[in-house]
Amino acid sequence: MLRIPAISARFEMSFSSRWKASYQGVKNGTSPKEIRDELVKRTGMSEKRAKYMDQTGSILSQMTAERHKAMGVSKFNWSTSNDEKVRDSHNKLEGQVFEYANSPAVGLPGTDYNCRCTANPVFDDD
Ligand SMILES: [Zn+2]
Repeated sequence: MLRIPAISARFEMSFSSRWKASYQGVKNGTSPKEIRDELVKRTGMSEKRAKYMDQTGSILSQMTAERHKAMGVSKFNWSTSNDEKVRDSHNKLEGQVFEYANSPAVGLPGTDYNCRCTANPVFDDD
């Protein structure tokens, strides 16, 4: 069962505003270099770290993971775009829950070339 605690929702909102410019940049097709610079400027992240995130695959999936972890979310639900272009290896992962600390061999959703899969946060009901 999914439950979004009110405090997380509020935190998500304030956090989102900080990341907004970066997401916007991705949507508008800004270069990874510009996104990196934005990240450094807006979040105070070190340049080295931003660069590392960029090298390890899609900066957007890394950002989603960071955002979830900052919210106290340690698990995600793999969600494909549910069409014929989804690769077989990702179709198999659809709906499965993984821990960020123990992500699947293919990496985080959205990391593979042209991958449009996303990670949905899973909230523990404790
Ligand atoms: Zn995919």
